Amino acid sequence: MESAASSSSEIVTSIIRNPTVINCPHCNSKILRENMGLLVEDTTFELPVKDITDTKSYNRWYQLKDMFDFENIGFTKNKSGTAQEIKYLTCADCEREAIGIAFMNEKKFYLAIDLVKEQ
Ligand SMILES: [Zn+2]
Repeated sequence: MESAASSSSEIVTSIIRNPTVINCPHCNSKILRENMGLLVEDTTFELPVKDITDTKSYNRWYQLKDMFDFENIGFTKNKSGTAQEIKYLTCADCEREAIGIAFMNEKKFYLAIDLVKEQ
């Protein structure tokens, strides 16, 4: 088991990592190599929807603990009004939309499985 020293409430039912390479669904840029992200389910975060002042909830993620474990990732500006530093992840090449969320202080990075392409 991984360390349980975490302040967030995600439920890790078993250690499952992404079995395939993960690419951007828009420009096909490689975001993550296989076996790098830890599957986290039943954890809800909201991501902004492009061009709309709205958010959408997602609850299936690949979690990483080091931004350098990504092949290619961009960060949007900080989410406003929050005590801790939160940024959104986006494809570094096309920056089309938010595809994940980053808790910079905790060094936790979550990639939304519903928003990326698994090969
Ligand atoms: Zn892209």
